[in-house]
Amino acid sequence: MNNKNSTQLFEKAKNFFPGGVNSPVRAFRSVGGTPLFIDKGKGSHIWDADGNEYIDYCCSWGPLILGHANENVLNAVDKTMRNGTSFGAPTRLENELAELIVSNNPFIEKIRFVSSGTEAVMSAIRLARGFTGRNKILKFEGCYHGHSDSLLVKAGSGLVTFGNTSSAGVPESFVNETIVVSLNNKKAVEEAFSQFNNQIACIIIEPIPANNGLLLQDKEYLQFLRDICTKNGTLLIFDEVISGFRIGFTGAAGHYNIKPDIITYGKIIGGGFPVGCYASGKEIMKNISPEGGVYQAGTLSGNPVAMSAGIAQLSECLKPNFYKNLETKTQKLVKGLSALRTTNFQLFSIGSIFWIAFTEQEKIQSAEEIDGDSMKYFRDLYHPLLEKGIYLGPSGYEVGFMSEAHTDVDIEQTIKVFKEVL
Ligand SMILES: *Cc1c(COP(=O)(O)O)cnc(C)c1O
Repeated sequence: MNNKNSTQLFEKAKNFFPGGVNSPVRAFRSVGGTPLFIDKGKGSHIWDADGNEYIDYCCSWGPLILGHANENVLNAVDKTMRNGTSFGAPTRLENELAELIVSNNPFIEKIRFVSSGTEAVMSAIRLARGFTGRNKILKFEGCYHGHSDSLLVKAGSGLVTFGNTSSAGVPESFVNETIVVSLNNKKAVEEAFSQFNNQIACIIIEPIPANNGLLLQDKEYLQFLRDICTKNGTLLIFDEVISGFRIGFTGAAGHYNIKPDIITYGKIIGGGFPVGCYASGKEIMKNISPEGGVYQAGTLSGNPVAMSAGIAQLSECLKPNFYKNLETKTQKLVKGLSALRTTNFQLFSIGSIFWIAFTEQEKIQSAEEIDGDSMKYFRDLYHPLLEKGIYLGPSGYEVGFMSEAHTDVDIEQTIKVFKEVL
């Protein structure tokens, strides 16, 4: 495979950016080699700086549920930006996107737009603390919630622990407000509530944990979290930055029919532009400034170009059978790949998300159950797949995403290439 241009671009990028990138996983450290610089995308395919073509299952890490350069999204963006790209004043497009979301989602009444998933989650946590007057939060090992201080925390050893920070630069005192427990573990959550009675502002979870493999939880466990939160006056936050608008329009809340107190969205909501939001009922949302005392603001929040991309994308998602078709395609890929199983190779999936895991376990529901050593198989697989035109997220802990643009031909080609490479 000719990588000359990508290699040169990466060398140049290293002069400008730490590790040559503006977000760490892009650097290909988990799979080795040089990251590909992407020149363009159309539908389910992308082309790198050397003209190599790939079927893309990364889809910008999830946002591109319609695939690349969707005509409806492009037209909407083009039309909007010709009237100016930002005003720092309200626009009718914010109303339109909000109405589209709220009128099709029984779990939320009011929303606040921000510019990333990280910002959405950070603000949701502040809201939970402001609303409850409590400081501590409880998160799960293996769930990713963006890079804000209180959430870059991993479990220590023990059933219920204050985390250890997973990043330099996060003060110990912040970490001491974050309790970290294992997924799929009721006892740990109960223990946390008995140790920190009346101190826990919120539980935050990815209801479909998809940032560290795909650690599907039982509905019963999510209901348990709902109940223990209600009983203790603690808010339940579903971080649906990945699952929102992907597992159906109403995300995991709709899929499991469980009503969290606050939901965060990102990725798909902005149609490929930087948008996030947090949402809740009126009573909780009235605590946000300027109505209430929890401060949160943004110069580019509700940006009209990004709003119009979101409106265009989500309008497509609302069309009949949109999610059913995505799931059917995903199942086709999953079944095709599963049939190639020669060794300890397993596919986990839900909706249009799939995860390739090298394991013999039928279920993996917590981070501790993932065998770190098995990632070497993904590494071995990765570059041969690239060379034959299949682009996956460059880490074995990352899930793959199906878009509306993927065709049966893409899927058959993918299965064929996997068969050769395995
Ligand atoms: C991607 C993601 C985030 C962070 O969103 P950014 O837009 O990258 O800041 C937060 N939570 C979850 C569940 C995510 O998948």
